[in-house]
Amino acid sequence: MMGVNHAAIGQASAMMWALSAGATLDQALVAGGISALAAILPDIDHPSGQIRQRMGIASVLLFWLKHRGITHTLLAFVAVGVGSSQLLPLYHAIPVIIGYGSHLVADAMTRSGIPFWYPLYKKPVHLLPSFMRLRTNGLVEHLIGAAALFVILRNIVQ
Ligand SMILES: [Zn+2]
Repeated sequence: MMGVNHAAIGQASAMMWALSAGATLDQALVAGGISALAAILPDIDHPSGQIRQRMGIASVLLFWLKHRGITHTLLAFVAVGVGSSQLLPLYHAIPVIIGYGSHLVADAMTRSGIPFWYPLYKKPVHLLPSFMRLRTNGLVEHLIGAAALFVILRNIVQ
């Protein structure tokens, strides 16, 4: 999935969580922003991804990361979850976990899937049967991104 759609899904998911937990709109927007950042983090392994491009020359340090490799696993998800819950207050750690997790769920709906159980089980894991899997940068992916955007805007303007 594209970074912009991951960010929108992460933002919408954390906003819905925060609002359902009794947060104000401002607090929900902050939670959403944190989640949107966490939602693009796993694609730090993408050679032409936005994160790498912003890193400039420093991105050569990440040459060893294979796209949809270690950052798309349960291992990375647990590491990010434990790390953020140690470093951040809970109301900021939860959006990190929501955002990162939403990325893995979204990518697991695509045709390539994700190596979720790596290194215990190396084959890609899929959430959907093969005929329903999303094509990266395809119409359905963008419709999901648009739906997430709608949820965000709907919560802001109500
Ligand atoms: Zn990804």
